[in-house]
Amino acid sequence: MARLVMKFGGTSVADLDRIRNVAAHVKREVDAGHQVAVVVSAMAGKTNELVALCRGASSLHDAREYDAVVASGEQVTSGLLAITLQAMGIDARSWQGWQLPIVTDSAHGAARIQSIDGTRVIEQMEAGRVAVIAGFQGIGPDGRVSTLGRGGSDTSAVAVAAAVKADRCDIYTDVDGVYTTDPRVVPKARRLDKQPQDHAERRPVRNAHLR
Ligand code: ASP
Ligand code: MG
Repeated sequence: MARLVMKFGGTSVADLDRIRNVAAHVKREVDAGHQVAVVVSAMAGKTNELVALCRGASSLHDAREYDAVVASGEQVTSGLLAITLQAMGIDARSWQGWQLPIVTDSAHGAARIQSIDGTRVIEQMEAGRVAVIAGFQGIGPDGRVSTLGRGGSDTSAVAVAAAVKADRCDIYTDVDGVYTTDPRVVPKARRLDKQPQDHAERRPVRNAHLR
């Protein structure tokens, strides 16, 4: 048995079919006897759409309200993945940043995580329930929803993995194949010839080994 954090990006949760693929992948890990927490991004394109709406509403918008709007993308995908897992017979629930809580500083729109209380998530994982955690968001010292900078859900995943004392954090990112390492970081990354069929089956491009 291992405790895993699996992180899925926007392309992996872009529609219900892909969310079902993600859920099937999570189910395989659960069936293998692992404790699993999942961190999700918003559906691909959703955050851009929400940012554009804020700008359309006012070019000088309140950063706290911007966070209230843009954090909603991950709220939707975390709930949808929990529903989908439940429909497959897997015990699961969603967690918003404020519910753990994931505490950040006060820099709305570009907040930094300060601490995460993993206690309740660990309790539930130990009881066999998958925790589906909304990435990219937390709660600021003002008690209001905060978001990390754009692309921040990878940071959420790594921070959650540390907080729940995970054995492994696998970040599934949309790339055009399976690479030996992250091709965006390491120019010499090599694409492997043989690729699994669907996105959710691809191996993570990055593994953070935490222990
Ligand atoms: N949904 C957020 C963004 O598009 C966070 C993320 O996906 O990492 O920036
Ligand atoms: Mg991303």
